Amino acid sequence: MLAAMPDSAPSPLSAGGASPRDGGAAGATPHAGGDACPGTLRLHRADDGALARVRIPGGVLSADQAEALLTAAARFGDGELHLTSRGNVQLRGLGTECGGELAALLTDAGLLPSAAHERARNIVASPLAGLDGSPSVGRWLTELDHLVCSSPAAATLSGRFLFALDDGRGDVDALGADVTLIAEGPSGAALLRIGAADEVFRIPVAEAPRAALLAAEEFLRAARESGAWRVKDLPEDVRAKLVGSIGSGPPGPAVPRPRPRTTPWRGVVILGPVPQPEAADALRTLSESGLITAPDSPWTGVGACIGHPGCAKSLSDVRAEAGAAVGPPGRLPVYWSGCERRCGHPHGEWIDVVVTPDGHRISHVRGERRDLPTTVRNDPARLAATVAEARA
Ligand code: SF4
Repeated sequence: MLAAMPDSAPSPLSAGGASPRDGGAAGATPHAGGDACPGTLRLHRADDGALARVRIPGGVLSADQAEALLTAAARFGDGELHLTSRGNVQLRGLGTECGGELAALLTDAGLLPSAAHERARNIVASPLAGLDGSPSVGRWLTELDHLVCSSPAAATLSGRFLFALDDGRGDVDALGADVTLIAEGPSGAALLRIGAADEVFRIPVAEAPRAALLAAEEFLRAARESGAWRVKDLPEDVRAKLVGSIGSGPPGPAVPRPRPRTTPWRGVVILGPVPQPEAADALRTLSESGLITAPDSPWTGVGACIGHPGCAKSLSDVRAEAGAAVGPPGRLPVYWSGCERRCGHPHGEWIDVVVTPDGHRISHVRGERRDLPTTVRNDPARLAATVAEARA
């Protein structure tokens, strides 16, 4: 399972070619065509070549699918898999003519079940659901993905619309998805939340995926006039009406969204009963291949956007700068952005390093709050020290 970055959107390049299996084509409707989110069939132009975003519902990948993605990256792109904040995978540095072959490869791997819905399959799930005594959300995930891919209306959802399946611990509920299902634990019921509303609706657990799809379809009706891509973009009165229209019975208890906090994104959870000492060997192999396996690694919590040279907007090579500034392990995650857009930044409490024409601006973010920033100009040593101090 891949644990998941909000996904960002460069400028459209071309239709990468519809899936040869079902002949569908994404982007044929006002909603789907209106937002600039890339997909697998709608590649986007970046400075390092074309970019494809492959939706991975719930971040769940089989070993064969991971292998197929790696093959696609090696054959058509820069050879790397780039994780996004929603647990999706981006392929970068693609040739502009690879769309058809890429779609065929991904279809064969089961990663493109419906061409028309490829950008609508935005589903995040609690990465540890079912693994540590918490309820599993696997059945919800399978059923909701199937329902989304079977709904003609859902094909018109924007590439930004997000479903979240929370096992009750609040990690993905804190992400502010458009439709969130929350396992209620011992009661065996499910809670349905629309956008950031405090009100939730208690529903039978078996009906939860269908309720989530119906809520998304209801959103599309409510958004018809405004053309909103997400629930939070709806005019206030329309949003209130939408929330009020969900569910036939009385709403359940008000459950405030968990305070935004650090979520465990951009990590990989590998499943399987691995006995010692094989587990230690596996960790050593992963570590030797350059992956971070120790919680106290100085790299833990360090993230960056693609930056220069991949993105034309970037004012510097932030990935290299982030690597050069890695210091002692920090309490807070740090995220480096090449411009004010901050593609893929974390949620909750984190340290924001953004490159501006005046230098690197470092600030401490707590949800909606942001402390007074410090700006460091042309002084790598001081930059590293300032970031380390902010993270401590
Ligand atoms: S520089 Fe980074 S944050 Fe700015 S648009 Fe490019 S990828 Fe996004």
